[in-house]
Amino acid sequence: MFAWNTAITHSPDVVVGAATAQDVVESVRYARSAGVPICVQATGHGAPRPIKAGVFVSTRRLDTVRIDPQTRVATVGAGVKWGAVVAAAAEHGLAPITGSSPGVGVVGFLAGGGLGPLARSHGFSSDWVRGHQVVTGEGELVTASAGQNPDLFWALRGGKTGLGIVTEVQVELAELVTVYGGNLTYATADIETVLRDWVDYTADAPDGVTTSVAILRLPDLPQLPAPLRGQTLLTLRFAYPGSEADGVALAQRFRDVAPVLVDRLGQIRQAPSRPCTTTRPSRRRAG
Ligand SMILES: Cc1cc2nc3c(=O)[nH]c(=O)nc-3n(C[C@H](O)[C@H](O)[C@H](O)COP(=O)(O)OP(=O)(O)OC[C@H]3O[C@@H](n4cnc5c(N)ncnc54)[C@H](O)[C@@H]3O)c2cc1C
Repeated sequence: MFAWNTAITHSPDVVVGAATAQDVVESVRYARSAGVPICVQATGHGAPRPIKAGVFVSTRRLDTVRIDPQTRVATVGAGVKWGAVVAAAAEHGLAPITGSSPGVGVVGFLAGGGLGPLARSHGFSSDWVRGHQVVTGEGELVTASAGQNPDLFWALRGGKTGLGIVTEVQVELAELVTVYGGNLTYATADIETVLRDWVDYTADAPDGVTTSVAILRLPDLPQLPAPLRGQTLLTLRFAYPGSEADGVALAQRFRDVAPVLVDRLGQIRQAPSRPCTTTRPSRRRAG
């Protein structure tokens, strides 16, 4: 059995494809009574090492997403990937505050805090969590929220591992239908120029704009366009949850600083008929 990183092959003693929260409860109780380790995986994106013993709980079958447009809360099973939440929320003109990849698991991402492309305008993704259903090490299914088991609730929004197995999470959604975002890619010769300019920019960048950079070493493969094949490139990621005109103006310096090899920056719109508004999570507003 594989993680997303195919260099890692798991070989536990028992694999449980949990389909209900009760399956998780029974798994934890069994591992406890047998004195064997237990671990959990959704997508395997975050697998640090092979699991070679004990009980391995896969949450992939916990795959439901329910959206309440009145409260703007998504209730998400532990096996769900962000892309499914984005699609379900978009039907209501809403959006989760996600990471960069639709293929990453919601619960694993939130357990690590979750710092995504809208981090500066909307904060950590875990700031938007309203509550969890979680099976503790004693095999009890409990709620962790601001009102119930608040210490566990706090720890689950960044503590990452060893805090129990989450079966479901409630996430507040933002009224966010359009973002000016994407990335600009620069050639090797311009990496230093762009990086120096970006560092200057970050000293007093506007709060609403989130940027990040990555240096990519692309393989020499025929599937890649010739100018990118085998090259070391810089990509600058940019996201602004506002109008296209403002986004273009805010991003202009990055189009001017050096020749852009690939320009994939533009208006991303989920529901064109809806007005563009953004909200911050109510819990953060309450301080
Ligand atoms: C392509 C890509 C893009 C990414 N982009 C971002 C980004 O923009 N921002 C960011 O912050 N991170 C990002 N990450 C990192 C990502 O958040 C972590 O790798 C995360 O742990 C993946 O969660 P998962 O559920 O997909 O993976 P899994 O390997 O299934 O889970 C990772 C870990 O989460 C815990 N976990 C999973 N399910 C449960 C559960 N039900 N109960 C309790 N614990 C559980 C376990 O400790 C598990 O080992 C990215 C990763 C990838 C591969």
